[in-house]
Amino acid sequence: MDLHIHTCLSPCGDSKMIPETVLSHAKMHGLQIIGISDHNSAENVAAFKEAGERIGFPVIGGIEVTMLEEIHVLGFFDELENLLQLQDLVYNHLQGENDGEAFGEQYVVDADGFVARSCRKLLIGATDLSLEKVLDSIHQLDGIARASHIDRASFSVLSQLGFIPEGIYFDALELSPQAQTDTAEYKNPGIPLVRFSDSHHPQDIGRSFSVLSLGEPCVAEIRRALRERRDCKGDGGYLFTYT
Ligand SMILES: [Zn+2]
Ligand SMILES: [Zn+2]
Repeated sequence: MDLHIHTCLSPCGDSKMIPETVLSHAKMHGLQIIGISDHNSAENVAAFKEAGERIGFPVIGGIEVTMLEEIHVLGFFDELENLLQLQDLVYNHLQGENDGEAFGEQYVVDADGFVARSCRKLLIGATDLSLEKVLDSIHQLDGIARASHIDRASFSVLSQLGFIPEGIYFDALELSPQAQTDTAEYKNPGIPLVRFSDSHHPQDIGRSFSVLSLGEPCVAEIRRALRERRDCKGDGGYLFTYT
């Protein structure tokens, strides 16, 4: 699975990141599940899910939230309604209006990839939400929370805080495709480590992926698989990841 893919809704996302292109690249690279996670918005998730359903390809809905401290955290949900509740919280804490020319266009598309409209919110901005508030909200809404690209020098919980704060529950920590293959320094006892592509362009899709054994392609099963790995403490919760 590759659970970190941006669409044409993200200001930094390629306008070619529409359902058909994303799904065809995912299939071409042998992926079996993808996750959609735009910056501070989930307005394209329904269209990607619908397009996936048409061809029997599981699409999991998510969002990549930018916190007060410029930390990126990903939330994924089985229920679209719950994801949209989190989006409401994010929108209520996100100021400003996008300037497409300056920051990039933010296209909301339908399942066929036609542009329905542009999202006006300043998705490139940071919310004034704390890490605790976002993680509590994701879990209360029955989602799973992942720390984005913890190896990156910016926008990660480690780059901004230097450590994983106590009392903070991440279902998994994520490495970027650029992370060194020796991941020992990123291992945290008991927190599973995964690696995904953080795709912004079609050619990025599947450049990194992780393998989990699931009964069904859904968040509940991903949570179960991550918890099982968390419980077998011996290896620091490391999951096999691939580049
Ligand atoms: Zn990010
Ligand atoms: Zn991202």
